[in-house]
Amino acid sequence: DNDLVPAVARLLEHADAVRRLAVRANADTPDDAARARQFGAQGIGLCRTEHMFLGDRRILVEHLILAEDEAGREAALAELFPLQRQDFVEILRAMDGLPVTIRLIDPPLHEFLPDLTDLSVEVALEDERGPEVERHHRLLEAVRRLHEQNPMMGLRGVRLGIAIPGLFQMQARAIIEAAADLIEEGGNPCPEIMVPLVASDRELSWVREALVDVASDVQKERGVAVPHKIGTMIELPRAAVTADRIAESAEFFSFGTNDLTQMTWGFSRDDVEAEFFPTYLEDRIFPASPFETIDVEGVGALMRTAVRLGREARPDIHLGVCGEHGGDPASIHFFDELGLDYVSCSPFRVPVARLEAGRSTLEHR
Ligand code: PEP
Ligand code: MG
Repeated sequence: DNDLVPAVARLLEHADAVRRLAVRANADTPDDAARARQFGAQGIGLCRTEHMFLGDRRILVEHLILAEDEAGREAALAELFPLQRQDFVEILRAMDGLPVTIRLIDPPLHEFLPDLTDLSVEVALEDERGPEVERHHRLLEAVRRLHEQNPMMGLRGVRLGIAIPGLFQMQARAIIEAAADLIEEGGNPCPEIMVPLVASDRELSWVREALVDVASDVQKERGVAVPHKIGTMIELPRAAVTADRIAESAEFFSFGTNDLTQMTWGFSRDDVEAEFFPTYLEDRIFPASPFETIDVEGVGALMRTAVRLGREARPDIHLGVCGEHGGDPASIHFFDELGLDYVSCSPFRVPVARLEAGRSTLEHR
């Protein structure tokens, strides 16, 4: 039907005119960012920087993690820095002055380590007299030491940033320099630096201090003021219940409801296809998957606590959600009622989110 598209556009305009919740998109590339804008996103709520190191660049992160000394680490960071700076120039440019929340790297460690079995086989097959053998043995030892039984609860997020000196600082420098480049071109970039998987205020205050130092160094070096914010994901139950203290170091919170659901239920988000979970749904022990529709009684209660504590400590704190639930209609109504400022979802779900945010305003006012 030829009239359908204009009709949908008109409907979305009505929704935009009434809705209180802003809608952003999760996007990691300039193409995704462009798509997000076409669909009406008002910014990027989550740019996952670990996605920038998939494929050919993965090995650079592996080198960094396995660097044997400071010189090795510095060399790895020096290789990563110009790539990141270019990534951030492109994504900030694509969003043309709209806010872009750039999350510091948050991979489960095993995604960036060589496979232990492959490596053991390689070392076992090696000619014991070969000149590389000693280095390979050291590598194998290092990978064994870093091996985790449960990487999703391991050296991830802020923990990785604290464990690898210079990593978060490198990313922060790339973000602020990229923004300074755009300001010099006459642009108006709006970067927001987000720290992942924070459990305690001490982690965040430690990282914040490092980020603030980098940002002020770059601004001095460049002689330009770069407006930016520093905030955190709330995606661990402990962060939610200590949100007042965490808010002291955060200008914004973004709820990571994927991890918050996983950690609250104690059930792996990566195993929803596994045996027991579908049975639970079929037998209606769960009315819906908590990974799709927000579990109001549990995860939602933690969010409510975090919103209250965060606002008590910092009344102007900006609050959003960037887990998959940010694009789920029923969850959007809950987030609106909770008083969040925005939801962020995949670019393709942005129109639905705009519509539901509008319906929510009309239904609840
Ligand atoms: C989340 O945990 O909800 C989140 C948005 O982060 P990620 O999915 O990248 O872990
Ligand atoms: Mg997460």
